[in-house]
Amino acid sequence: MKSIQAVKGMNDLLPDSTVLWQWVENHIRGLFFNYGYEEIRLPIVEKTELFKRSIGEATDIVEKEMYTFLDRNEESLTLRPEGTAGCVRAGIEHGLFYNQVQKLWYQGPMFRYERPQKGRYRQFYQVGVEAFGFQGYLIEAELLLMSARLWDLLGISQKVALHINTLGKPASREQYREAFVNYCEKHHDQLDDDSKRRLKTNPLRILDSKNPDLQKLLNSAPKLTDYLDSEDKKQFDGLCELLKANGIAYEVNPKLVRGLDYYTGTVFEWVTEALGSQGAVCAGGRYDGLVEELGGKATPAIGFAIGVDRIVDLCSEKFTPKTIDGYFIVASPSAQNNVMQFAELLRSEIPELSLVVDCASGSIKSQFKRADKSGAKFALILGEDELSKNMITFKDLRQEGEQKQFKRDELIKHLRST
Ligand code: ATP
Ligand code: MG
Repeated sequence: MKSIQAVKGMNDLLPDSTVLWQWVENHIRGLFFNYGYEEIRLPIVEKTELFKRSIGEATDIVEKEMYTFLDRNEESLTLRPEGTAGCVRAGIEHGLFYNQVQKLWYQGPMFRYERPQKGRYRQFYQVGVEAFGFQGYLIEAELLLMSARLWDLLGISQKVALHINTLGKPASREQYREAFVNYCEKHHDQLDDDSKRRLKTNPLRILDSKNPDLQKLLNSAPKLTDYLDSEDKKQFDGLCELLKANGIAYEVNPKLVRGLDYYTGTVFEWVTEALGSQGAVCAGGRYDGLVEELGGKATPAIGFAIGVDRIVDLCSEKFTPKTIDGYFIVASPSAQNNVMQFAELLRSEIPELSLVVDCASGSIKSQFKRADKSGAKFALILGEDELSKNMITFKDLRQEGEQKQFKRDELIKHLRST
């Protein structure tokens, strides 16, 4: 019979790579804890309306990337394409935004119907941070400093660069939009098809175009910075100052507008040149209007999402996986029960010990092969000989050295001391 394959663009992560994923995730979790961010776990499926209202109808995600279906009750549901909408929905639903600030993070799979390629999948993973109730640039700087520290911990600081921009208040953006649309209409014949379509639906997204033929046109387009009011400028300058004071290099990129409707004020992206055209590894910004838009009380908010698949790719060169400590070899079938019992005793006595028991049986030679492949530092051997003497054999697998026999108590002492 023909075997069934995974859905295109949805990857299995095999044990070879999950060790690296865990390493990355553990760093993230530890770091967020240290900055006082708390985890929120959210459903993978939400009502379709939530994404339409938050991300916006005229965005790539809502127009063509969502996995939307009717459930058995004919309700339209969608596999989450990102985490912010669900996080805001949950915050409103549980009253998290009343008279308090929240610093939250989430992680998990996201789903977008895109053309699969390296670094771009239909099920991919994000870790996101969202801070609610904070005005001003202090929190913006904190998010950027925290992400910079993460790249440092993961050893990839040299591979990523920070781009920032500000979209200003909705009113400034609206004025700018008009000027930009005018400009594009004047040069309509130079736009590509995609941009002509966006001019009608979501014109600022034209700035985001990757088409090299458009760059000249866009470079001479009106600049959003010229439409900011003094308060917008003050906030943005404050952020830039604080980044400089903390030694964070950045580039102000006036063409950075981000794809989603909900952004206001500061937006940013961490980009890399190491992954071909899939350059963004972390992106976010301020979205002060969204909580109210989704039915809550007006609440300033800012967040970012990290593309974990891409971060893992960036980390893969340097990573050396952690290995287990011991591998227990069953040198005779009659020793099976003894091995199992003694292994359990060791686990109780030395809780931090990682110990694999060979449950596959077979020749001693094949067990040693598996022990070696496991990366274990030492092997324990229990067979007829050891049983008759009431001893265990210990063999260092990583250094030349003779094997040594121990009484059980002595072995526990020996393992504790190494
Ligand atoms: P891109 O421009 O690469 O399509 P985006 O602007 O659509 O990214 P966001 O919605 O900002 O992406 O998501 C935040 C991060 O999630 C991105 O910077 C990227 O690292 C990652 N990401 C987004 N879409 C995918 C995908 N299909 N596969 C893998 N990672 C993704
Ligand atoms: Mg995208």
